[in-house]
Amino acid sequence: MATKDADVARYVDAGGEDVATPRAGHGPAPELGSALEQRVAEVCARILAEWGRVTASVGSSLAEVAEGIERSTLAGTLALAEYLVSGEEIGQDRSEVWDQAGEAPLSGTITLSGLTKLYLTWRDICSEILREEAARRDTGPETLAVCMEAVHLGFDVSLVRMAKRFEATRQALEQRLAEHQARLEHEALHDPLTGLANRALLLDRIQHSVESMSRQSGRPAVIFMDLDYFKSVNDASGHSAGDQLLVQVAERLMAVVRPNDTIARLGGDEFVVLCEDLTDPRDEALTVAQRISERFAEPFVLGGREAFVAVSVGVAAANLGDTAAKLLARADQAMYRAKQLGRGRIEFHDPSIDHQDTRRAELATALHHALDYHQLYVVYQPICDVATRRPLTREALVRWRHPKFGKVAPAEFVPLAEWSGLMTVIGRWVLEHACRDCAEWRRASDPTVGLAVNVSGRQLANGSFADDVEHVLKETGVPPDALTVEVTESLLVSERARARAALERIRALGVRVAIDDFGTGYTSLSWLAQLPLDVVKVDRSFVSSLGLIERHGAIVEAMIHLAHTLGFEVVAEGVETEGQLAHLARLGCDAAQGFLFGHPRPLPHGAAGPEV
Ligand code: C2E
Ligand code: MG
Ligand code: MG
Repeated sequence: MATKDADVARYVDAGGEDVATPRAGHGPAPELGSALEQRVAEVCARILAEWGRVTASVGSSLAEVAEGIERSTLAGTLALAEYLVSGEEIGQDRSEVWDQAGEAPLSGTITLSGLTKLYLTWRDICSEILREEAARRDTGPETLAVCMEAVHLGFDVSLVRMAKRFEATRQALEQRLAEHQARLEHEALHDPLTGLANRALLLDRIQHSVESMSRQSGRPAVIFMDLDYFKSVNDASGHSAGDQLLVQVAERLMAVVRPNDTIARLGGDEFVVLCEDLTDPRDEALTVAQRISERFAEPFVLGGREAFVAVSVGVAAANLGDTAAKLLARADQAMYRAKQLGRGRIEFHDPSIDHQDTRRAELATALHHALDYHQLYVVYQPICDVATRRPLTREALVRWRHPKFGKVAPAEFVPLAEWSGLMTVIGRWVLEHACRDCAEWRRASDPTVGLAVNVSGRQLANGSFADDVEHVLKETGVPPDALTVEVTESLLVSERARARAALERIRALGVRVAIDDFGTGYTSLSWLAQLPLDVVKVDRSFVSSLGLIERHGAIVEAMIHLAHTLGFEVVAEGVETEGQLAHLARLGCDAAQGFLFGHPRPLPHGAAGPEV
């Protein structure tokens, strides 16, 4: 179809390939110095005005969409112009902009109905241009009708494509959203390090379980675990070793419990297992706890090094009417008790524990007056030569007898004294008192028998410890090499720098240093070599299982061998039977302490017998 419109002809000529071949896509907009250019500008202005009505959102995205529309309008109009000039079919590829526009509602720039409205507006404007241009070119009604139909068809196709794109994008986004929500939900209920349930999920499961207790015959039980000396692992080997340990603990727990039990990490080194639907919750949960405990007998491998870590376990079974919080708190209390009684143990919650918080508070108050009221005293337990059975040393063990509470065990009051800061004063008193006793027995009857004194973390961290020792030795006349200071393994690890400085100072005086309860804490073997040490005291737990747990025999043998290689003397703790003593003698142990040789007794010391 020919046209007389010089503007259109010029415009088509000027556009080059992109302009002349609209199907080629969206090339740069051509220069339009014509009436058509002005018309397009008007159209764009109207579209933008329309846009402003259908969407309130303005911003950089508006400019981008407007630019796209302008380009599209231009290309569409060019196509029309081309059709009017050449009669060639109108390409439909230009609908691509509208096709992409199908994503706009999902990105929030415009609503779908707004976009459709805008689209229809644009279609009407294009139809209007077509009509105007047809009138200007004297186009016949049939040609115009064909043109119009083509325009409408093209727009319809584009609209459908846009809607399809919208639907496809919507589905993809919905899927992403669902995945994201699932991830968020998982993160909200799980521990990121181990992937175990977190406190929120655990409480939810316990609550559900205690609530359904009346409906089914089984009862749930909760196993509460806290690693012993986890802080020491972190302090000695760094947080990444600590994290490795937690992950390995999680793996071991997963291997031990039933698949439908819930395992949770409450943060730090606290883990909980919820066992549901148990017929005999006490016994069944204790069996699981025992299995868990046994898994801790194998070493963990942290940063390529082996480490033994124990766990204190508390078990509680649900009672009718329990809440999740109550049941968890009872298991926590039982765990606390396991720690108090010497760690590495399993305790079942006993209702009397509920009264123990009150007891602890009362004991802490009473302890303040214990020294002034002469309620503290010291008992001694011999440490004997394995071969000759002769006492080499006596270990001083503090005792507290209170008029209301009776005899309170050091396992109960020493931690309280540590916590309240009283241990520094009590420890100094024990040291002084025991040195005086030692001077006395050395003078009167046993000139070669030395003294061992336990020292707490607070005492050692206190800057004056070495001065106190020096002063007391001078005052009492006990030779420095007759005194052994016992420190626990955990303390050596956690208070590393300060403990070491204090120990090095007293060793310089000639005092010996022993590592107490060895094997229960976390001491890497290579590190043991660097400690200012003279004696290693192998923990009672290893001695008591000698001959019963084969592995323990091997561990004790390795400990003795290693200690000897490093030049340390080895004392076995808690020796109660002749069989154990004979076994230790075979393993080359130097000295032994335990009820076999004598219970801790006040002076005057004598034959073995129960403590008075
Ligand atoms: P420890 O230093 O390891 O002392 C050995 C503990 O094992 C003592 O408990 C002793 O009575 C017990 N024991 C000894 N032989 C046997 C045995 O053959 N079988 C069994 N079952 N037990 C045996 P005790 O006197 O109750 O002391 C517990 C802990 O309290 C001590 O462990 C020590 O860590 C701490 N402690 C005691 N006195 C003091 C003190 O004056 N200062 C400090 N800081 N801690 C102290
Ligand atoms: Mg000791
Ligand atoms: Mg000990």
